[in-house]
Amino acid sequence: MASEQSAEKTPPVDTPAKDSHTVASSLVLVTTGHGKGKSTAAFGTVLRAVAVGWPVTVVQFLKSGDWQVGEEKMCRKLGVEWLAAGDGFTWDSSDLDESRAQAVAAWEVASERIASGEYRLVVMDEISYAMTWDWIDVADVVSAIENRPPNVSLIFTGRDMDQRVIDAADTVTEMVNIKHAFDNGKIAKKGIDH
Ligand code: ATP
Ligand code: MG
Repeated sequence: MASEQSAEKTPPVDTPAKDSHTVASSLVLVTTGHGKGKSTAAFGTVLRAVAVGWPVTVVQFLKSGDWQVGEEKMCRKLGVEWLAAGDGFTWDSSDLDESRAQAVAAWEVASERIASGEYRLVVMDEISYAMTWDWIDVADVVSAIENRPPNVSLIFTGRDMDQRVIDAADTVTEMVNIKHAFDNGKIAKKGIDH
């Protein structure tokens, strides 16, 4: 175990047995939890996908009008099809119904893009909130995962991901908040946080 190795301060010598492992035609990833790093992990994977020549699309389910993450600018330059939906986090949204309508529209686009098979990677950033607030049906999301074309990998991000999406995924990572600069009065910094 890694913890035993680090306790002994010796490098690992055994390579993990791989005989029964295969390369999947696609994978489903979830990054959830209350710590920082969910979206940046997804966009880091986008870079890997672009590096192997995959067509990639990102659908953002929540976005405030003036909040454009740096990844959007760079990903567009790399040919990633980027759709920013939503008009902000609900607590600073002036019109909750509009946020809801935009999240529903974002899911329509995302589910169409998944089913089309035109993309090898579809990222649904901050989609968990749309499920938590019952804006989109979790059963539809699970069905889209299960019925996707074989080569289409998916990434879902956001806090408090629904257990049914977690169950349908291959790799699920929970970001644990140990501490965050914001708690110490330091607001989001461009270049680091967006
Ligand atoms: P990132 O986009 O930096 O990977 P994230 O996707 O894990 O963060 P979100 O919940 O989507 O986190 O929030 C995005 C913004 O909120 C970023 O500016 C991020 O730094 C900030 N943030 C993330 N986690 C926390 C936290 N625990 N406390 C305060 N701010 C946070
Ligand atoms: Mg995020």
